[in-house]
Amino acid sequence: MKILVINCGSSSLKYQLMDMDGERVLAKGLVERIGLDGSLLTHRINESKIEIKKDIPNHKVAVQLVIDTLLHPEHGALNNLSEIAAVGHRVVHGGEKFARSVVIDEEVMAALRECSELAPLHNPANIIGIEACQALLPGVPQVAVFDTAFHQTMPKQAYIYGLPYEFYEKYGIRRYGFHGTSHKYVARRAARLLGRPLTELKLVTCHLGNGSSITAVKGGVSVDTSLGFGTISGTIMGTRCGDIDPAVIPFLMEKENLTPGEMNDILYKKSGLLGLSGVSSDARDIEAAAAAGNERAQLALEVLAYLTRKYIGAYAAAMGGLDAIVFTAGIGENSDIIRRLVCDGLEFLGAELDEEKNRVRGKEADVSTSASKVRILVIPTNEELMIAQETAELLS
Ligand code: ADP
Repeated sequence: MKILVINCGSSSLKYQLMDMDGERVLAKGLVERIGLDGSLLTHRINESKIEIKKDIPNHKVAVQLVIDTLLHPEHGALNNLSEIAAVGHRVVHGGEKFARSVVIDEEVMAALRECSELAPLHNPANIIGIEACQALLPGVPQVAVFDTAFHQTMPKQAYIYGLPYEFYEKYGIRRYGFHGTSHKYVARRAARLLGRPLTELKLVTCHLGNGSSITAVKGGVSVDTSLGFGTISGTIMGTRCGDIDPAVIPFLMEKENLTPGEMNDILYKKSGLLGLSGVSSDARDIEAAAAAGNERAQLALEVLAYLTRKYIGAYAAAMGGLDAIVFTAGIGENSDIIRRLVCDGLEFLGAELDEEKNRVRGKEADVSTSASKVRILVIPTNEELMIAQETAELLS
């Protein structure tokens, strides 16, 4: 069975064609600068890379180009469109309506539009991608896989904020959490690596990338997570501030005479690793600057690690125990430096990092000492595979 996975952003579209027999990637690619000058499709198949530069004014044209490329006699991966059994779409926000993936129908589309208010930058782009696929692949089932769905199992005490309750009722203001597909994928893999049923495990999964979140996964379900209503709470990220006292916001707005939009820009785009270091939002640049003696870069690394460690401790308490810590996403998978800084001081919990084993990059590994009671795992995430699996599961 072949599944096409689509992740549509406001000016980009990532795709992956997967053969679910053997879970192999047949082809994948990225359309960039949709609706802008210099639009471009980069397509990868069997180690080779093809670039197509042409005018791509909208997402429908982008999807058509992806289809044409997948059907291409030389660098395609399909003989016939009917080989696509279904399309799995990444959708950022499912609000409280979607606690699992769904086959998309008119009712689902209406609900997705309602959720757009909660994710105004993401859901409208996801919807455009779905509509383009519906138009160009009529009769092929389309499935929505939500970033928020995995966290819908959180108990109310974990997702409600201490604000007047009416704001939850009126506007749905609460913790939703994101990166759910990634947390779910690595939690499942962790159970496989540990050789224990997921239902018995207490895990803290640390998705540390450009955007980051930390999740408490108890018995296979999310019971708390560090991102909330928006995507800025928790540990610091590339350009997002992480946990701050909300009192800072009106104070700064008044002092600097900022509009809500300008304030948002500071919180989402000028803070985090970038704001603290003044160097870059990219962890590799920060690590290099810190190694060269830049104190603010070193501080940025330490704040990222400290906040992550605090969440691990908090979530161990929330779950009443801890079996494993999982590191994933760009930083979690690759940075031995951050993993070292995060784990420093967690020995009291029974988590001991093995310096030698920790030198690993981008592959599954247990990086804890053999005596460590709590296992420390590196597990590369694979959101596309998780989306394809959920899509295939729904079809059967
Ligand atoms: P996104 O959230 O955009 O998917 P990624 O998960 O790809 O982001 O993570 C990007 C982050 O991972 C960047 O900060 C990048 O510097 C970091 N990263 C990637 N490779 C390494 C590495 N070898 N060492 C340290 N950080 C890395």
